[in-house]
Amino acid sequence: MKLSKIKLAGFKSFVDPTEVLMPSNLIGVVGPNGCGKSNIIDAVRWVMGETSAKMLRGASMTDVIFSGSASRKPVSLATVELIFDNSDGQIQGEYASYNEISVKRQVNRDSQSFYYLNGSKCRKKDIVDLFLGTGLGPRSYSIIEQGMISNIVESKPEDLRGYIEEAAGVSKYRERRRETERR
Ligand code: ATP
Ligand code: MG
Repeated sequence: MKLSKIKLAGFKSFVDPTEVLMPSNLIGVVGPNGCGKSNIIDAVRWVMGETSAKMLRGASMTDVIFSGSASRKPVSLATVELIFDNSDGQIQGEYASYNEISVKRQVNRDSQSFYYLNGSKCRKKDIVDLFLGTGLGPRSYSIIEQGMISNIVESKPEDLRGYIEEAAGVSKYRERRRETERR
């Protein structure tokens, strides 16, 4: 599975609809300070269900919505859509037969979030479940930030086990067991 496209509109500095294409396995994003490079990573994290504003470098959840600039008025909605190439069939279950999977999130000024899977409205849980065990997710090791390597090296054995379980694809079943036990 591979992230092939990121579509943003009204998200942080990306006020106009923007498409970021990922045509190969190695992409470099370059640009001056403050041009929006890190905002792209925030967008990816956000779609996959991140609910902590701090993790997205903001104070509140609506801080991801374009707040205006000297020449542009603020907007009322932020939308980000990730397009995944699933031709290797890594995504299993209901969506296994789709070669392309679209995951979208929108938020409005009332802090209401809406999630979509291949265009149909869904719950946040559906998106979290889709990625469980694939190594993707808002806080998974698929996004390696500054300081994260030393965090992993210095982490407690139980946290380290979490990383290994996610890489091995076991975490999906652990989460299902936890849900069953809660019922
Ligand atoms: P650096 O090289 O310093 O890491 P960067 O390219 O990673 O810079 P970002 O942190 O992605 O830059 O972008 C910061 C810019 O995004 C700032 O100019 C900030 O004003 C703008 N920005 C962030 N949130 C919003 C928002 N809600 N509305 C409008 N602009 C925003
Ligand atoms: Mg940055």
